[in-house]
Amino acid sequence: MDGRPYFITVDEARAICQQTPPPLRTEHRPIEMCTGRVLAEDLKSMVNDPPFDNSAMDGFACRFDEAASYPCTLTVVGLQAASGDNELVEVGPGEAVRIMTGAPMPPGADAILPIERCDVGDGTVVLLEPPKPHFVRKLGENLKQGTIALTKGQRLTPARIGLCATMGYASVPVFQRLNIAIVSTGDELKSPGEALAHGEIYESNSYGLAGLVEWAGHTPVRFPSVADTMDALRDALNEATKTCDLILTSGGVSMGEFDYVRRIMEEEGDVHFWRMKIRPGSPPLFGVWNGTPLFGLPGNPVSSHVVFRMLVAPYLRHALGTDGPKEWTVRARLCDPVKSTNDCMTLRRVTLTSTEEGMMAHQPRHQGSGNLESLASASGLTLLQPGQSGEVGAWIDVLVL
Ligand code: AMP
Ligand code: MG
Repeated sequence: MDGRPYFITVDEARAICQQTPPPLRTEHRPIEMCTGRVLAEDLKSMVNDPPFDNSAMDGFACRFDEAASYPCTLTVVGLQAASGDNELVEVGPGEAVRIMTGAPMPPGADAILPIERCDVGDGTVVLLEPPKPHFVRKLGENLKQGTIALTKGQRLTPARIGLCATMGYASVPVFQRLNIAIVSTGDELKSPGEALAHGEIYESNSYGLAGLVEWAGHTPVRFPSVADTMDALRDALNEATKTCDLILTSGGVSMGEFDYVRRIMEEEGDVHFWRMKIRPGSPPLFGVWNGTPLFGLPGNPVSSHVVFRMLVAPYLRHALGTDGPKEWTVRARLCDPVKSTNDCMTLRRVTLTSTEEGMMAHQPRHQGSGNLESLASASGLTLLQPGQSGEVGAWIDVLVL
């Protein structure tokens, strides 16, 4: 390893990866095509929200100090719809205007009484109680023009997309999705749909990793799986650098005779670290192949998934300076024992149940890192720190899957 970092903590590994970010590009896109994208600039509101004083209720607009006692009868002098028609009727003493939710307040009126609290007559209305000033939504009360309401790095959720529109933006600057190559390695791998010979298995990591790349907000580019030879691997990695910003490989990074990803990265690429203190998933490496950052993920299907969540997802969030997709951790009480170690973080699959005593974490029986079913049926990963007890009853942090 030439003195390069070896068998380091998760935090150390994250810090090393972050020093070699992927290239970022910005584009302007119509907001209806931006759900899940990450804002590339702060956004100032182009308007006041609301842009004018308006009614929060269907009812009657009138003067707050209209009468000393109620019920009180007023003359209806007009009707105000939420229509953008600005011929507003003035409301004088003893007068009211029938008004709809969202319609501009007529001049002279400063309070609203909802229709349910009124007796409507012919040309008159009886207010059964005093009108309410708080049913008037005031100009700019949600957002003043020029205020920054969304900031660079925020992931555009449906609510945030709506807010872009409220602020007057038809299109917004967002980061382009990264093209992320996924290269599975292994002589034993066959694609699902093909017949299996003895000794072969179905290749699953590229599909799971592609799903994770999409979940993280980027574009997966799956390559055909590669045989365990230096030449095949070199060709595949070179091909991936032509179109992709980042490469994820799976398999070939541990101590096996045919673990060529590690070997080719050591001999012809640039390894920034190898192996991390995490179980499962200890053999990952990070480095650069021909100018393109590369994560060498473990071949065991659970391990490759866990390492993506612990290493690749934080790397991508950090590169874009983004808050999404949000990682949730919850405190949960262990209902089954989890074997922890003194030097590694332990990430076991658990199912979470919400109870009156808090969140409970159960561990499925079979936890092999090749057992993808145990991940598919899990709802969380234990975040047991090195040396932390995993005995029954311990309250621990769990990463929600
Ligand atoms: P490796 O790290 O290449 O030694 O692989 C470790 C284990 O994961 C072996 O049992 C492989 O057969 C299995 N494995 C490697 N790559 C994949 C893949 N893409 N899909 C499913 N299993 C895999
Ligand atoms: Mg292999």
